[in-house]
Amino acid sequence: MERSVIRLSHCQKEIFCFSLPDECPSCGEELRGSRLQEAPVSLPSPFTDGHKSSCCLLVAPAHDNLHRDFDGTSDLHTGISNTKGVVYNYTRGGVRRDQSGWERCISVPLVRPDMFHLLAQWDQYLDRFSDGPMWDPAWHR
Ligand SMILES: [Zn+2]
Repeated sequence: MERSVIRLSHCQKEIFCFSLPDECPSCGEELRGSRLQEAPVSLPSPFTDGHKSSCCLLVAPAHDNLHRDFDGTSDLHTGISNTKGVVYNYTRGGVRRDQSGWERCISVPLVRPDMFHLLAQWDQYLDRFSDGPMWDPAWHR
């Protein structure tokens, strides 16, 4: 089951975590005995399957993070999905077109659903742009 995110309020900050800490991660104060307004609430999972979200900017833990987990310390990697759920992303080896590996990420829609013209051209634009010489690791100005 997908872990839910817990939001708590403390020291005038909104803090998001996967499990309830004993101390406030921001100020270090013990959380027990906090006021009711500061009580933690569970939020729906913010993660989506990047291969099922078309025309989105995707953020996921970097490939060298073995568990591909958002642990608060791992590097993040970004990609852009086409209309068929292929995720274009750039790594040391150049542009990748991933059919898997982006099942658990944060997605930000890039195209409004009523922008039919752009949606129809999206895959072509993405293909053309990612074929550009600037994405070739051997390319230098
Ligand atoms: Zn605090």
